[in-house]
Amino acid sequence: MTQANRKPFVGGNWKMNTDSAAALSLIDGVASGLKNDAVDVAVFPPFVYLREMSDKTSGSDMLVGAQDCWFESNGAFTGEISIEMLKDCNVKTVLTGHSERRHVIGESDQLVNKKTKAAIAGGMIAVLCVGEKLDQREAGQTDAINESQIKAGLDGVSQSDMSSVVIAYEPVWAIGTGKTATPEDAQDAHAKIRALIATMYDQSTADSTRIIYGGSMKPGNANELMAMPDIDGGLIGGASLVADDFLAIINAGQPQSV
Ligand code: PEP
Repeated sequence: MTQANRKPFVGGNWKMNTDSAAALSLIDGVASGLKNDAVDVAVFPPFVYLREMSDKTSGSDMLVGAQDCWFESNGAFTGEISIEMLKDCNVKTVLTGHSERRHVIGESDQLVNKKTKAAIAGGMIAVLCVGEKLDQREAGQTDAINESQIKAGLDGVSQSDMSSVVIAYEPVWAIGTGKTATPEDAQDAHAKIRALIATMYDQSTADSTRIIYGGSMKPGNANELMAMPDIDGGLIGGASLVADDFLAIINAGQPQSV
């Protein structure tokens, strides 16, 4: 299977940005510029704006996603948000293991795995984020880090559940830094991840799993990254906060433009 058989996925991770007015204006700008549904488009606003964003996009193909979740349904977990609560807000997808959750907040592979499984069990698309830090890259450990984070993150995830998983390869040194992996380096990491999925499941699962790139993707580099055969879209931070930039990246993901 080639890239053309996988529907591109482009997500905008707003992180801890926007306020209510800015979120509404940003989602309006994105929604009004979407041309067709050739790309799965998701936005990941802060929790407190999720319901407003879902209401705003109801009836459209745009997915509203959460930046994180908790793995238990309810109970004494002060400050946490369950998958059930997210479903109540019409959330359809959730990021798990984003590098800021792993390296700023301190989430373990085991916690990421629980969240990933809870998201899948709740009927969401789990966007499992993996990637190496700069020192790990310099030590030649990129593929080993991706492998260990993917194996741990997908522990107990069945082959049939893999249709609910998108893998985001996000080299930590490229996130929010303006530094981007070269298309060739990113392609190499993606191809190795796809080969890993084939060994963990089978070739057809590997061929149908979307593997997206994140790390300072912007309008100026999105085309060449997404033209690579194993790069099936992007997870966008900074550039997703400007509707026109995010739309240009979505456009770069259109199958006919690659
Ligand atoms: C991200 O937050 O996942 C990300 C890739 O951020 P940025 O595009 O700003 O590097």
